[in-house]
Amino acid sequence: MIDRERLATLFKSLVEIDSVSGNERAIANKVRKIADSLGAVCHVDDSEKRTGSDTGNLILKFKGNRPLEPLLLSAHMDTVEPGCSVKPVFKDGVFTSDGTTILGADDKSAIAIILEVIRVLVEKELPCCPLEFVLTTCEEIGLQGAKNLDFSLITAKKGYVLDTSDIGIIVNQAPAANRIELKVFGKDAHAGVAPEQGINAIVLASKAIAGLKLGRIDHETTCNIGVINGGVAINIVPKMVSIQGEVRSHDNDKLDRITENIVSAFQRVVDGWQGNGEPSELPRLEYKIEKDFPLTRIPKDHPVILIAQQAASNLGRSIKTKSTGGGADANIFFEQGIVAGVIGTGMQNMHSVRESIKLDDMVQTAELLMEIVRLHST
Ligand SMILES: [Zn+2]
Repeated sequence: MIDRERLATLFKSLVEIDSVSGNERAIANKVRKIADSLGAVCHVDDSEKRTGSDTGNLILKFKGNRPLEPLLLSAHMDTVEPGCSVKPVFKDGVFTSDGTTILGADDKSAIAIILEVIRVLVEKELPCCPLEFVLTTCEEIGLQGAKNLDFSLITAKKGYVLDTSDIGIIVNQAPAANRIELKVFGKDAHAGVAPEQGINAIVLASKAIAGLKLGRIDHETTCNIGVINGGVAINIVPKMVSIQGEVRSHDNDKLDRITENIVSAFQRVVDGWQGNGEPSELPRLEYKIEKDFPLTRIPKDHPVILIAQQAASNLGRSIKTKSTGGGADANIFFEQGIVAGVIGTGMQNMHSVRESIKLDDMVQTAELLMEIVRLHST
């Protein structure tokens, strides 16, 4: 039932539209036009006031023909860079870019798949529950669209986000994350003439970092220091250094504990600094902790998972649950009481100029989604 050629043509036309994060209006308009022709009621929320995008999130409602609970389907409209003037190449059944940009299969493969599935459902008048297709902005810059989504426009309590690579999995667990920003303040001085008068902020920060356990902390927790900025010249004792890092965990208590450990490691080094005995306000630590995204934990026997697995099995395939280390819009939905599993579309090497996707994988994902909707509609 899935029209392979139509799916390929739509995908190609979507990746040709520039939509780097914050510039999603053109693709939103294109999708809206198609949705209009399929009888959708379209809403655009006012999230652009907070995200800075040139459009809000797009919420497309299809009323279906069965008086059942609505099902959420979701994808994000934005891409990473280099994402402008994408020239898709289709060779041996695989889409790539011309090598100078990303392809944008992340996440336009999902948009094309969902639209193709809805088109088939509408045109063939197949049994269908109400569908709420949510297209977010600014996913790639910290899930900003989802975080600022007007959830009063959404009534679905369960559904699927299409935004990962492997077509044989459904992500049911994802971690919560904290962002940490620390600033160590020392004192500047001429490094050659009077180094004794300085307090080297970089040295203090290094001591703190050297004492941290980073990387994989345990089976459900990771931690990273990713950015350091400090100092202005080689002949000046640096008076400030800023450090940015993150902690992720599938366990909220561990997330808080590891976050506190990092801050206290810096505090200890700063407090332990031995000067020349004179009272001094320096060195000093400032820090900021931000909740980046909340966790997702969908039980393996939840209908969202069971129906996806039943759908795969009806097609002679299988789909496995997966715990991931990454965050997605689904994490934000989960916090809002919407249980959404994350399904793969076949996209590979995302966020690189080597990004690719097989048309076969897109067709298979569309077939799976058709079956999922059918099962949710009976
Ligand atoms: Zn994505």
